[in-house]
Amino acid sequence: MMAQYLRVKSSHSDALLFYRMGDFYEMFFEDAEIAAATLGITLTKRGSKDGKDIPMCGVPVHSVDGYLARLIRDGHRVAICEQTEDPAMQKERGGKGPLRRDVVRVLTPGTLTEDELLPARAHNYLAAIGRWESQLAIAWADMSTGDFTVQEIGDGGLETMLARIDPAEMIYPQDFAFASEISEQITSSGICLSEQAASLFDQRRASEALTRFYQVASLDGMGDFSRAMLSAAGALLAYLETTQVGNMPRLLPLCAVSDAGYMEIDPATRRSLELSRTLTGDRRGSLLHAIDLTQTAAGGRLLGDRLAAPLLNVTAINARLDLVSWFIAETDTVETVRSRLRTQPDIERAISRLSLGHGGPRDLSAIASGLIGASEIAGFIRGHSTQHIDNLAAALPDLTDRMVAPLSLADALTPALADDLPVLARDGGFVRQGYDLALDDVRGLRDESRRLIVALQGRYADETGIASLKIKHNNVLGYHIDVRSAHASKLMEREEFIHRQTTAQAVRFTTMELAEMERNMASAADRALAQELEIFVQLRAHVLAAVDNLAAAARALAEIDVATAAARLALLGNYCRPQITDETLFKITKGRHPVIEAMLDQQTPFIANDCDLDEGKLWLLTGPNMAGKSTFLRQNAHIAIMAQAGFYVPAEAAVIGVIDRLFSRVGAADDLARGRSTFMVEMVETAAILNRATPRSFVILDEIGRGTATYDGLAIAWSALEYLHDVNLCRTLFATHYHELTQLQKTLDGLRCHAMQVREWQGAIIFLHQVVAGAADRSYGVHVARLAGLPAAVLGRAEQILGELETGQHGAVDAGAIVQNLPLFDYQQQAHAEPDMANAFIAEIDKTEPDSLTPREALDVLYRLKALQPAKQNNE
Ligand code: ATP
Repeated sequence: MMAQYLRVKSSHSDALLFYRMGDFYEMFFEDAEIAAATLGITLTKRGSKDGKDIPMCGVPVHSVDGYLARLIRDGHRVAICEQTEDPAMQKERGGKGPLRRDVVRVLTPGTLTEDELLPARAHNYLAAIGRWESQLAIAWADMSTGDFTVQEIGDGGLETMLARIDPAEMIYPQDFAFASEISEQITSSGICLSEQAASLFDQRRASEALTRFYQVASLDGMGDFSRAMLSAAGALLAYLETTQVGNMPRLLPLCAVSDAGYMEIDPATRRSLELSRTLTGDRRGSLLHAIDLTQTAAGGRLLGDRLAAPLLNVTAINARLDLVSWFIAETDTVETVRSRLRTQPDIERAISRLSLGHGGPRDLSAIASGLIGASEIAGFIRGHSTQHIDNLAAALPDLTDRMVAPLSLADALTPALADDLPVLARDGGFVRQGYDLALDDVRGLRDESRRLIVALQGRYADETGIASLKIKHNNVLGYHIDVRSAHASKLMEREEFIHRQTTAQAVRFTTMELAEMERNMASAADRALAQELEIFVQLRAHVLAAVDNLAAAARALAEIDVATAAARLALLGNYCRPQITDETLFKITKGRHPVIEAMLDQQTPFIANDCDLDEGKLWLLTGPNMAGKSTFLRQNAHIAIMAQAGFYVPAEAAVIGVIDRLFSRVGAADDLARGRSTFMVEMVETAAILNRATPRSFVILDEIGRGTATYDGLAIAWSALEYLHDVNLCRTLFATHYHELTQLQKTLDGLRCHAMQVREWQGAIIFLHQVVAGAADRSYGVHVARLAGLPAAVLGRAEQILGELETGQHGAVDAGAIVQNLPLFDYQQQAHAEPDMANAFIAEIDKTEPDSLTPREALDVLYRLKALQPAKQNNE
């Protein structure tokens, strides 16, 4: 056995080998040590090699999924080695030793299909980098849904594409060198990298792999693929062939897309806008989380994909919006359709499992019930649409047709399937009684034998006079007669009872008759199971024959889910339909932030703000900290993304000229893991913006230059602003604390100054969160510091210094002069003053006898207490 193990392991040295032994998968040697440590299971030993114990650990077959999930999440690959023959086959070939075993599948992060191992609402992509000369391409596929896409890496770069696709695993040729920033990005986003032989990416071999897979003579009918694209897609297929050991998944026709189709959003922008995850990595708090009201997993995946890749084509965007508008106009359909969607199973993933041979009876049932649900939803929509179908819902008839097309498959599946279904076909019992007469007959025989055994037990009990005699079953002895030790001698005396086993409490026997019955029953059960498996294979073949229609129905259902979710979001949040144009307008009336608005309670309404970048393309926004500058910047970027992804937006009206690239530099974040300081990160991101923004782009910049000395920062912000205005010519929102920049409105025609409005009231400031034309007069930083709870002494001192700075001459800050004017502050004294006051206060209270005080005396005490307070500080 060890020789067999070592042979199998030698061809899967990069994976942990799960070696099937009975009801367990066993691991040996280093694999066992890694698995035991990762899974927290006991490490034992079995035999020895070269005089050393062989470490071993194992996991039960029935609960393997949980263990696999943890190992894969930890970045391991797992090769599953199964028995590939049974003892009868071994006998036939005259073989000796262990039964044949081989790897039937290698699990890697990008090749999973099991629901238990996958996030339901997100795609799980395997990506491959291909190349031809200097051109690179990336192909990506989700085995669990069959999506398969390829794209050349355009001038947006690999970094931007990876951020959009977000694959779980990526393969690349052995001799390919990633640029250092990309390696860093891959590490930080947790993409599992897998290096493969360069020959896998050979373009000629790759095209052959593709034509073979799709069984076509040429790929021309599918689209126009460059050589780099073929290299990527072919390598991906070849990798699937190895990991699935020839058992290929169903993949939709390869689809070529281009950069030209999507809004470019680089990784830094995605991160800072918290599109699908917050800066801390949570889904909650992200834009995706706030707007995803889909009911099905497939709908959730589609919505996530759309938000990650907003479109550029006005017609395509409007087609999506039309569908949302139709549901909004037909408000009462929205809730009905949504409540029906809620119970829809995940058809896409069921098809994939069945096509790969991992599927079971529950997948067949999911498809049947999914199709029935889809046709009901389609029927309901059609019922409503007869009078109202107009241009608004041009896509609707096609969607409902696609949802109904494969319904006959449900008619074939439903009568065959029992109510309670096992996970695995090999457990049997999933074919409904009455579906197949031959099967019912064999089942009858099996059940009859069971009845006969029960009758035999009664007869033996009568004949022997042992009322407690039982016929039992276990895996070692099979059926046997079980009596307590005290009664054993009665059976020992009789010839027909053959002794099998004695335990502490019981003695076990068998008889010829019982053995015969058991044989009959086992053969009937085996025949019943074999027949059920045959039926399973037929039903599966039915599904696979209809797979294209089925996938189209599943996709149409997901589209309906996304459209109804968007309609509900719009109705709940009072969103408007954006008007998308090809000009470079950006006019938002009373826009709101979709995430922050949802988080505020009823008492604190979100303050809506306009943004009009038509007349002046560049808005310079000033205002105190906490006044809402970042919120305003982000909300406009979110609105643009939502609009181009085909959603209604949180505003009263929105006119958006298609944005080709969106850039955001909001807030500073250290990237110490990548060895960059806050300021360095900020400058790298600013450089990307200034180098790439076009006149059709939209840029939001928040406080650039604040991470360095005041004058350097101001100088950088100043020149960046001029460059954006004169060279990039893009629509820009620029928030800053450098009030000096407002001077630029005199020289830059397209620049408009706006400020966050605040009110001062009794020494405190109130944030009105309103954007108004003009420049802010002060920063109120010290006020915000007070809100944050800085000690009063520090605040008081800061105000003094601020006063000095503000009254000082323009020019370099003269710290020496300030030190002269404001000598060192005695914090010690200040810190002591307060305990002294407290003691005096307590002493005064101690002296007071409340019961004997007259009203007048009580008032005097109050005055004395009040007088104990130190002289009021300026800051209070
Ligand atoms: P800083 O300069 O310190 O980064 P800021 O001006 O960018 O501050 P934000 O972070 O945008 O301020 O906003 C601070 C808080 O104010 C938000 O978390 C939110 O709770 C609230 N807020 C911002 N804008 C609005 C608004 N329009 N309506 C209601 N509340 C808002």
